[in-house]
Amino acid sequence: MTTDQQDTDTAALDTDVLVVGAGPTGLMLAAELRLGGAEVVVVDQRPGPTTESRASTLHARTMEILDSRGLLDGLGTPPCEPRGHFGGVPLDLTLPGPYPGQWKVAQTRTEELLERRAADLGADLWRRHQLLSLTVRDGADGAPEGVEAETIGPYGPVRVRARHLVGCDGEDSTVRRLVRAPFPGQDARRELLRADVSGVSVADRRFQRLRHGLAIAATRDGVTRVMVHEFGRPVTERGGGEPDFAEVTDVWKRVTGEDISHGTPLWVNAFGDANRQLARYRHGRVLFAGDAAHRQMPSGGQALNLGLQDAFNLGWKLAAVVRGSAPEDLLDTYDTERRTVGRQVLANIRAQVELLLGGPEVEPARALLTELLAVDGVRRHLAGMISGLGIRYDVGGGAAGPDAPVD
Ligand SMILES: Cc1cc2nc3c(=O)[nH]c(=O)nc-3n(C[C@H](O)[C@H](O)[C@H](O)COP(=O)(O)OP(=O)(O)OC[C@H]3O[C@@H](n4cnc5c(N)ncnc54)[C@H](O)[C@@H]3O)c2cc1C
Repeated sequence: MTTDQQDTDTAALDTDVLVVGAGPTGLMLAAELRLGGAEVVVVDQRPGPTTESRASTLHARTMEILDSRGLLDGLGTPPCEPRGHFGGVPLDLTLPGPYPGQWKVAQTRTEELLERRAADLGADLWRRHQLLSLTVRDGADGAPEGVEAETIGPYGPVRVRARHLVGCDGEDSTVRRLVRAPFPGQDARRELLRADVSGVSVADRRFQRLRHGLAIAATRDGVTRVMVHEFGRPVTERGGGEPDFAEVTDVWKRVTGEDISHGTPLWVNAFGDANRQLARYRHGRVLFAGDAAHRQMPSGGQALNLGLQDAFNLGWKLAAVVRGSAPEDLLDTYDTERRTVGRQVLANIRAQVELLLGGPEVEPARALLTELLAVDGVRRHLAGMISGLGIRYDVGGGAAGPDAPVD
């Protein structure tokens, strides 16, 4: 990486790959790029890693990936739960392999681990730097081909020139907007309200279907996470903001009959059933991974896992391309492989959302699925989807293989 002073106000630096976003996807990608010998700069507008209690599940395929990078020791011994679900219908996720089941790891912990690894491998992480604009240079004007990004940081604007840029900037991706990447799909129509609450005593329930809605509750270390959906209730427009605790307690009361309004809310949010996917993950020298490439309800804990696996697939390929040891079109295999997996995951999530948030009209479908899951082949098929162990990439000649990690 080189730096210079372009004009009096703007610092500039050159690198192989600029990663926008230091969430789990961007951090995983940065480390994989370094492992493959590429220079990488990561910019993130936030001052530090998320402190929000977001994803809490690592699936078997992700565990295998982390193991292949020697990262599991850093997670200690996380609790493992073989029981998963498909749209709230119990599903045993156990499949042959070293890490059957789902592993309970807070997203904050996963990010901490990935950030340390990216830094140890020499990735350059610039926090408090927001991407504002980008220009893709095709070399026609004699300037080197690549991407030029304008960011603003605490010390002013910084221009980053890179050979490739990867948008790992989450569901409201700025990169997606700047390159006007088509992002077809549907907006949210329904939502689950969620709150972490202290000072309440609520019985644990997994996916309790009551007359008026769905209720979920689990208490750990004195904090109760409640999730609730009232059947037929559409998404509430809040101008991008989070729901009030009062909204959660009102809906909880209507669905369960219980009053939790005396509790102390530690974190309140709502997540909807929006379901969108980029038409292409590669736009020339600009690529996308993680939530920037696909928006989905995190049903079955698949969202974070999908992003980490995108990064794992892309990292070694992009490193090989920037080092000149592979042609540019290797990147098209990232697009086809991960877009196919993403499409399958988004489809299973849409089916799950119907089963989960639908009212009494979905009971026959739920009963039938319960019956079908007693057939082991059906159970294994769905467990393969959720855990990621069912993923097979077409590697030509009728063969199928997993990712090809860098040694
Ligand atoms: C409230 C909430 C609850 C969730 N719960 C679950 C769950 O229970 N289970 C599950 O599997 N998943 C859950 N998810 C989803 C999971 O957190 C995401 O799938 C995961 O974080 C995606 O990782 P990412 O790295 O792709 O994107 P993100 O984690 O969103 O990271 C994107 C990063 O890009 C940065 N960024 C954005 N724009 C710019 C810009 N212009 N310039 C610089 N930086 C920028 C952001 O600051 C952020 O750090 C939840 C998500 C949210 C928001």
